[in-house]
Amino acid sequence: MKITVLGNGSASPTLDRNPSSVVLEYRNKLYLLDCGEATQYRFLEHNISFTKLSYILISHLHGDHFLGLFGLLSTLNTWGREKELTLVGPLGLKEILITQFKYQQTILNYTIRFIETQSVEKQQVIETKDVTIFTFPLQHRIETTGFLFVEKMQDYKLKKDKLPMNIKLEHIHQLKSGNDVYENDKIFYKNSDYAKEPDAPKQFAYCTDTIFDPSILAYFNKVDLLYHEATFLDEHAARAASTFHSTAKQAATIALQSDSKQLLIGHFSARYTEINSFKTEAETVFSNTVLATNGLVIEI
Ligand SMILES: [Zn+2]
Ligand SMILES: [Zn+2]
Repeated sequence: MKITVLGNGSASPTLDRNPSSVVLEYRNKLYLLDCGEATQYRFLEHNISFTKLSYILISHLHGDHFLGLFGLLSTLNTWGREKELTLVGPLGLKEILITQFKYQQTILNYTIRFIETQSVEKQQVIETKDVTIFTFPLQHRIETTGFLFVEKMQDYKLKKDKLPMNIKLEHIHQLKSGNDVYENDKIFYKNSDYAKEPDAPKQFAYCTDTIFDPSILAYFNKVDLLYHEATFLDEHAARAASTFHSTAKQAATIALQSDSKQLLIGHFSARYTEINSFKTEAETVFSNTVLATNGLVIEI
């Protein structure tokens, strides 16, 4: 899974930070998480073809997370997209877009499949042959969900140098599924002699926007990468709580308590001119912390 940061800012615009957006690329499919203003320009900037987009997931309806949708969906139409697009987001998103396109007098060439999220409990929203995507509730000022990507279990890896020349195709399938091969009730090929267990499925959790809320630990554990918002520094913890946002230290606490392997923090408030202090603060709690910066790529 390749994750590219397209935006790391929060509600107020700044010249050097774009609003929230992260794109995940896996097996030639693109999944966009949030679509702040001008996200389509970030795709161009980082040379990622957004015609490949299959899924767009919107965490909540604050402008810094979805105002880029209108431009991006319109451009896809202008460029002649016909392939269906799946849009996952909260109640109201479908209505907003229908109204927008109605008054814009745009008839889309492609279908949008809407999947409405709820912020009451964890829910599976997408299942493909590659990944399963869940939403889970976050505590913010309006209905908000986090997202959890879980890679599908891969096939067992064949030890090609050990495989007999004349092995039957059905036996290869059985070995790839992790099974021993039997003939006449006797073990014919012992799986461990011919195949290796695949790596554990990769997991990526995305939590923005949210107040510091340890109850989200019930929804994910031991993820390879946790994206958690860090709008404020600890010195503004009271402001973070009153606006239902988190501090860098709190994001790191969630990473530590969920046993995450790596933490990516973003959604920095425009009040801070430099962001290195966020990393320094988070690292006092969780050392493997990375700052979301425009164009940063993380492979898990
Ligand atoms: Zn926000
Ligand atoms: Zn928000």
